[in-house]
Amino acid sequence: VAINEEEYTLDFMAALDLAVLLVGSNCLGALNHVLLSLQALRLKGLRPAAVVLMAPEEPEGLSAGERHDRERILADNPEFLRRRLAAWGEDAPVVVLPRVARLDAAGWQELADACAVLLPALSRHVPSLTGRQAPAGEEEPLPLRDRRILWHPYTSVVDPLPVFAAARSHHNRIVLDDGRELVDGMSSWWTAIHGYNHPRLVAAAQRQAGRMPHVMFGGLTHAPAVELGERLLTMLPQGLARVFLADSGSVSVEVALKMALQYQQGIGQKQRTCFLTPRGGYHGDTTGAMSVCDPVTGMHCLFTHMLPRQIFMERPSCRFDQPFDPASLDDARRIFAEQGERIAAVILEPLVQGAGGMWFYHPDYLRGMARLCREHGALLVFDEIATGFGRTGTLFAAERAGVCPDILCCGKALTGGVMTLAATACTEEVAQGICRDGMVFMHGPTFMGNALACAVACASLDILAEGRWQEQVAMLETALTAGLAPCRELPQVEDVRVLGSIGVVETTRPVNMAAMQDFFVRRGVWIRPFNRLVYVMPPYVSPREDVERLCAAMHDVLSLPGMLA
Ligand code: PMP
Repeated sequence: VAINEEEYTLDFMAALDLAVLLVGSNCLGALNHVLLSLQALRLKGLRPAAVVLMAPEEPEGLSAGERHDRERILADNPEFLRRRLAAWGEDAPVVVLPRVARLDAAGWQELADACAVLLPALSRHVPSLTGRQAPAGEEEPLPLRDRRILWHPYTSVVDPLPVFAAARSHHNRIVLDDGRELVDGMSSWWTAIHGYNHPRLVAAAQRQAGRMPHVMFGGLTHAPAVELGERLLTMLPQGLARVFLADSGSVSVEVALKMALQYQQGIGQKQRTCFLTPRGGYHGDTTGAMSVCDPVTGMHCLFTHMLPRQIFMERPSCRFDQPFDPASLDDARRIFAEQGERIAAVILEPLVQGAGGMWFYHPDYLRGMARLCREHGALLVFDEIATGFGRTGTLFAAERAGVCPDILCCGKALTGGVMTLAATACTEEVAQGICRDGMVFMHGPTFMGNALACAVACASLDILAEGRWQEQVAMLETALTAGLAPCRELPQVEDVRVLGSIGVVETTRPVNMAAMQDFFVRRGVWIRPFNRLVYVMPPYVSPREDVERLCAAMHDVLSLPGMLA
């Protein structure tokens, strides 16, 4: 039943997350209705605790044969449902409630007997029904079970940071398993731009899952992959012509590095084996990607002997919000002059250095860098994994500079935060250079072109193509600028900066992550600071009041003692 233009009672049930008792009738033709209802529950992530079929009234005037047939069919209905539920992996019992002649002692007893199996099934979902405690294994909180066996990003198993158990999500909210609902400020690391559980993304995943979730991409292709490639090329900076579908951002960076190296080999520049990259960059956690991350804050010291040695230049010093200073390219100019013929490509995050410091720099730097690369025969690789798909106010950060790189990586928001998928696009010239003299490009992961992820990505790009993101991101920029301005007055704050839908407060010392996170969760917001950065990049669909809540929480946490190390 619709409860408004967009939501249904099913959404209400999903929000309550209670046990579902599905009641149907056991008349002829009713099975279809029960099966469709079960399907609808499943699609919302709801599981039936039990199914009850009400015995129908017997029509009058049936012949003995008709009565026999009818009883046979009605008896088969619950059996059929039990088999279906078992095949779906559901342990919900199916109970047929009899029609009782009268609600007298015998009638009560008959109903009570029939209902007996319902109670344990329902109390598994609602322990308070019986007052009994659930078995110990189920009672132990998820974070404790997690702590015994799972790794989390960048953590110690000996002294891990606390984790919170998330149960569901919707729009710009994450709901914890204790029922607390948090306003999301992170878009799950830049991904959930349209908000969580977007009905079009969920529907795309369901449709594709029912049709063909995945087939190998060697020797086979499919509509979701081809359509995604076509859609991407209409959105990416003009000049990019070929798309390699990768399984994550880091893999797409590996692909970009290999493309650049193979291109230089293909055109006879075999001595070009190094990458030039600014300090303060971050490109992922795989080996090649690590080698071009910042040499100090990255992981170089741990893996020195394994990582290829790259060339690092000064980080782009020219702030985004100040006039461009051409001297910010001096270090690059010097390095190109000294060892330009070794450089296969420059790789950088355009406009926003993300995990390496949330630093915003001037688009003219990119124009100057593109010129230097051209002059010195190096390719230019843009890592738009974080900046892509509207986050900085243009669809891709490259647009602000009017520069088309030779190779571009995108990922994160590509599927609107539903599946892992990334892409590396290159120009026709790069592709032809790689494939000269019968050469092939040497990369081909098992899950390349995953159909499920591609179908969701197509749906996400369709939503972007409708263009509402522009006013949403503009609103976020205005709200973040106003909301974070008071932070400038705080003594613990070094800098405040906003670009597109990214709001950053840089502190004077590293934050106490656990204390801050705890404060934020108690305030009903999800913000995950790191190092000297307290920052947000909310889903584009976030209402203004929620952005104000995020900003107020950031201000208040930084006003408290003990929040910095
Ligand atoms: N490049 C940039 C700019 C990123 O921000 C990230 C992820 N934080 C990556 C690459 C790596 O992507 P993934 O985590 O999907 O491997």
